[in-house]
Amino acid sequence: MPELRKDPIIGRWVIISTERAKRPDDFKHAPVAEVTADEPCPFCQGNEDHAPDEIAVIRDSGNSGWAVRTIPSIRPLLHIDGAIDSWGEGMYDVLTGFGAHEVIVETPEHTANMADLEVVQIKTVLTMYAQRLKDLEQDDRLQYALIYKNYGQEAGGGMHNHTRSHLIATPVIPKWVKEELVGSRQHYEHHDRCIFCDIIRQEQQQEVRLVYENDDSICICPFASRFPFEVWILPKTHSCDFHSSSESTLTDIARSIKIILSKLKQGLHDPAYNCVLHVAPFKRKHYGYWTTIQDDYHWHIEITPRLTRIAGFEWGTGFYICPTPPEDAAKFLRDVKV
Ligand SMILES: [Zn+2]
Ligand SMILES: [Zn+2]
Ligand SMILES: [Zn+2]
Repeated sequence: MPELRKDPIIGRWVIISTERAKRPDDFKHAPVAEVTADEPCPFCQGNEDHAPDEIAVIRDSGNSGWAVRTIPSIRPLLHIDGAIDSWGEGMYDVLTGFGAHEVIVETPEHTANMADLEVVQIKTVLTMYAQRLKDLEQDDRLQYALIYKNYGQEAGGGMHNHTRSHLIATPVIPKWVKEELVGSRQHYEHHDRCIFCDIIRQEQQQEVRLVYENDDSICICPFASRFPFEVWILPKTHSCDFHSSSESTLTDIARSIKIILSKLKQGLHDPAYNCVLHVAPFKRKHYGYWTTIQDDYHWHIEITPRLTRIAGFEWGTGFYICPTPPEDAAKFLRDVKV
């Protein structure tokens, strides 16, 4: 069983993955293609028996097949079955590696990049995100669910180049999410407004970091970008919960994702990227002290192309060195025709 261990100094949780235990020799760089050559892609339509049984599915209205499906991870980092337990090892806190680890297969076709899916298909993927978040929220043992994408090897993409999202739900709130929550609450306490709504307002006025917008969503290069060509996609209507989004918001977010990913692909030679969906934690009774979370937090998507490597200064300090000003990145991306 994997373990969740808490850093006693700064409170950061890590997963110690016993089942993926690697010896030093295992880290020798093996070309991914060699590992996968003979295996059929378990995410393609027709190969479902190579993957675990599905957890959820959205059928394709046009034919008898599926449009998007969710399966348990073939190599889960955390396990949803079994009791959740916590204990101390002297001064250290440990939890059993309890949690959910699911894979959302975004298309039955063998397509590598979400950028190449139709807007309507991306919207179906987002609908699946919402369904999974709603479902997992029912499990009182879970506090948070992060949905993310790894595209390309530099971004941690796995063996099969079939576009998919991962969902990891944990019994704790991850540290970076907590930092966003605390910062948002502080802004709200001082100004009585959501900080993300304030950011949207300023970016619409200044326009220099605006990449694209439609009725319900806006795409910006954030003022303090950590990575070159980092883009955030936000709903214009204030909401802390992705899974309560309206149909029109999901459609406009899907269109924004399509446009941003296509611009990155065309303008930057199909780079690897990560994409994360930041939502509020699941609402639990004992989180009564987060009384303003509905008003102070605003869900969003962060897309970070992997064009630079994180080096010693970043690891040592949490400072990021971004070699492209977000104003230049936004102008460049605005000008890429897709
Ligand atoms: Zn495939
Ligand atoms: Zn807001
Ligand atoms: Zn965020």
